[in-house]
Amino acid sequence: MAFKKHWVITLKKLNRALADVRAELDKSGFWNPRLANIGVYLTWFGSAYGWQHYRRSGDIEITAFSLCRLCEAIPGSESVPLRDIVRHEYAHAIADSNRGLMRSSQFHRAFGKHHDSDSPSVYSPDMHVSKYAAEDAGEDFAEVSMCYLKYSGKLPHHLDTPAIRKKWGFVSQLCSQIQSGKRRWAPEISMSKLTDIYLPVLEQAQRLGLGAPCIVKTWSDWSQETLFPVGKPRESLFSKL
Ligand SMILES: [Zn+2]
Repeated sequence: MAFKKHWVITLKKLNRALADVRAELDKSGFWNPRLANIGVYLTWFGSAYGWQHYRRSGDIEITAFSLCRLCEAIPGSESVPLRDIVRHEYAHAIADSNRGLMRSSQFHRAFGKHHDSDSPSVYSPDMHVSKYAAEDAGEDFAEVSMCYLKYSGKLPHHLDTPAIRKKWGFVSQLCSQIQSGKRRWAPEISMSKLTDIYLPVLEQAQRLGLGAPCIVKTWSDWSQETLFPVGKPRESLFSKL
């Protein structure tokens, strides 16, 4: 859909944008009863395009006329499509309604900070999908999620950097967790813990002449650091026997 600049957001325009974004949320797997309970309101005036009442009512407010939109009249300034604002605010609502999944080492590994950390970063196009994403970790998540919805989960070439790919991967996994009704990530098992579990099984299998049981890499929630390096598990474990 071509981007049409709006100076004033009317209820009709907001409802159209809401219908589109909710369809995207549904298609991606984010939509659930908790998100459906979030109220979205059109408010008369504000400095920002919109906001979400994080850790309070959870509701979203979109401003009919905002200072941010007024600033778009300055030559060279960027215009923000209404649908991007709605996607961004819904991303905050997703974080708000899935705090157990956000307060996680998975989030920290992908974004380099805790979700509720308010320390800003130095903007870099290699690290951030937009300048606003450098504000803090919550805004970074909201901007990446906004792009995730906008591009139907396919990372566009112009955003494809190792750092952004990591953040994109988190959003994709978060989506799967929410879709399957999970409120927490599966517990991570450290290398030493996994070895403690695996070694007795391996010894028993060898005593029975069954050979080494395979480690099947099905724990998609785990990071590479907590898994055996590919191709090495048997060799490294055998050497410990
Ligand atoms: Zn925000």
